[in-house]
Amino acid sequence: MNSYHDGTVSDLGRMAVKPQPTPQIPPTPILAVEHLSHTYPGPGGGVPALAHLSFRVERQQFIAIVGPSGCGKSTLLRLLAGLLLPTEGQVLFDGQPLTGPRRRLGLVFQKANLMPWRTVLANVTLPLELQHVPATEASAQAQEVIDLVGLAGFEATLPRGLSGGMEQRVAIARALVHNPEVLLLDEPFGALDALTRERMGAELLRIWDARKKTIVLVTHSIPEAVLLSDRVLVLSPRPGHLRLLLDIALPRPRQVAMQYSPAFGELAGEVRAAIEA
Ligand code: ADP
Ligand code: MG
Repeated sequence: MNSYHDGTVSDLGRMAVKPQPTPQIPPTPILAVEHLSHTYPGPGGGVPALAHLSFRVERQQFIAIVGPSGCGKSTLLRLLAGLLLPTEGQVLFDGQPLTGPRRRLGLVFQKANLMPWRTVLANVTLPLELQHVPATEASAQAQEVIDLVGLAGFEATLPRGLSGGMEQRVAIARALVHNPEVLLLDEPFGALDALTRERMGAELLRIWDARKKTIVLVTHSIPEAVLLSDRVLVLSPRPGHLRLLLDIALPRPRQVAMQYSPAFGELAGEVRAAIEA
């Protein structure tokens, strides 16, 4: 007989059982980039755009990606969207290898690319129409995101009647209409004037907060990256690899005026030094 069977209930009761701390299982990140490389095919071995990049994006985190022009930022975003497949490594979306586009991943580009003959409402319902969502349901869903991006009253307007900032709002609404968990934005405010850009940044924070999204924003503006995000990722020149991962511990809600604080200046300086290194 083994000792377990020899022991009476009271014996077992007397055994000192230390309370064990509950093991902390880290939550699965919404996106995990693992040893990601991408080379565009071409003569002489092709164009290596990204090399051995690894990082994680936690749920509801706001990540900004900065780096010199041509370092592979758009390539990275397309890989995160499942529009491109890696040459090496992988992207895990919610723990599963990403092998193609997903509705849970919404994408916004620098150019709004609206259909000029469609109204604001019809541009936003387009992705739902393509999925054969019934028209009344599609309109209701579109109306909700049009309100969210601050375009209520412009539903019947054609794109030619919109400012650049309003066009980008439509593009954001269109990306949000499937209620994706992750919003991937590739220099969405790059073509806007400085003040509109600031306002759009604030709007993006409001949407992020209201909808509890995860956001990955590619930007060439260091202040925008620091002001909006929880973490800034700096890529090296092509082939892009990780130069710096900087946590932005500035309090929230963020205000534009924070840009003039010494803490902000220090963070922005660190990002700049990493880009220029
Ligand atoms: P970024 O967005 O940081 O400016 P990109 O990801 O657009 O950089 O591009 C990274 C590199 O890959 C650049 O050198 C670019 O010329 C090259 N590249 C981008 N797209 C293609 C493509 N479809 N075919 C070949 N090379 C490409
Ligand atoms: Mg780009």
